[in-house]
Amino acid sequence: MRSLIQTSGASITNFSTAQIRSLLELTGPKEIEALRREAHWATLLHCGITVFFRGIIEFSNICTCDCCYCGIRRSNRDVVRYQLAKAQILRQAKWCAERGFGSVVLQSGERRDARFVDFVTDVVRTVKKETRCSLLPDGLGITLCVGEQSRETYARFFEAGAHRYLLRIETSSPRLFRRWHPADQTFEQRHRCLSHLRSIGYQVGNGVMIGAPWQTSADLADDVAFFKEMDVDMIGMGPYIPHHAAPLANVDVEPPAVRLQRALSTIAVVRLVLRDVNIAATTALQTLSPLGRERGLDFGANVIMPQVTSPDFRKQYTLYDAKPCDNETDPGFQNTLEKRIRNLGREVGRNRWGDSPHARVRQVRLRGVA
Ligand code: SAM
Repeated sequence: MRSLIQTSGASITNFSTAQIRSLLELTGPKEIEALRREAHWATLLHCGITVFFRGIIEFSNICTCDCCYCGIRRSNRDVVRYQLAKAQILRQAKWCAERGFGSVVLQSGERRDARFVDFVTDVVRTVKKETRCSLLPDGLGITLCVGEQSRETYARFFEAGAHRYLLRIETSSPRLFRRWHPADQTFEQRHRCLSHLRSIGYQVGNGVMIGAPWQTSADLADDVAFFKEMDVDMIGMGPYIPHHAAPLANVDVEPPAVRLQRALSTIAVVRLVLRDVNIAATTALQTLSPLGRERGLDFGANVIMPQVTSPDFRKQYTLYDAKPCDNETDPGFQNTLEKRIRNLGREVGRNRWGDSPHARVRQVRLRGVA
């Protein structure tokens, strides 16, 4: 195993699922440190030292889905539902642009009605238009994360200016997917949506929950192989964290520290296997450890998504228990985060969309340029 890590530099392009699994199962401190180091070098080699910020705006917690792990599932009657107005979203997006973030993620619960689709289309178009400036001539880069939609809807959002879309498969195992979701939400439909996104021209983000009920390291290894097979451009994955009102909260999972390490190791392995994709150090890492996101960067992530939704609303966007609600728009918070990033030997990218090298290569290929 150790020799696999030692030789897993730029020359290794193909990992078998068995090799991926054995990397995911490393537990010894020395082996984990070797994995981290390899992933760190692979990050610098394929993505450089820059860490990109995407301000995440959680603009609505109204959701028609009933995922068995999620705190904002439609059956949870304790949630106070909200939807931000276009002007509020625009204000937050402009704040991100002024801070040099370069990109935003617009995320919400899932709705497919015409009113919602029109609203999101209008918001995307407006944010694009209103954030154009000399430093960002094409406005902010926009990643959408509003779940499963029809192909026509995805095409409308793309036309309006969203160029990246994050839709997690949650698990590449149809068996686990069935256990985590009600019968009307299917693995096949999620898979179809991912194909639509790719065919429309989005940069596609995928991801899974790590350490969720009944998931084994073999399942996780299949997930990593799935990302490779789907040729994804970006990954947004994090540890599963129970929400007290969700049905899966009754199922025992590994202790938080184990889930945290599993998530960090998975980031490292994804970096080694997929190499030049963007990987986000997610909020769920920070929930399990105050410096979880920085550790994620150290294990191979290169994107951070500061939460810019005002804490009043964020309190109601509780996907899982103990989700942090710090005011990340506070200048002190920003400076501390940036300082920690510099202490890791990295730098913060400014006024750039920060697309993954993987996506940029594909675009060149599609344009037929040698
Ligand atoms: N509905 C959209 C979708 O599914 O893409 C966007 C919002 S959804 C709440 C965003 C992500 O939150 C999901 O993809 C899921 O992985 C994550 N999530 C939900 N509940 C979680 C939990 N208990 N622990 C960790 N992640 C969770």
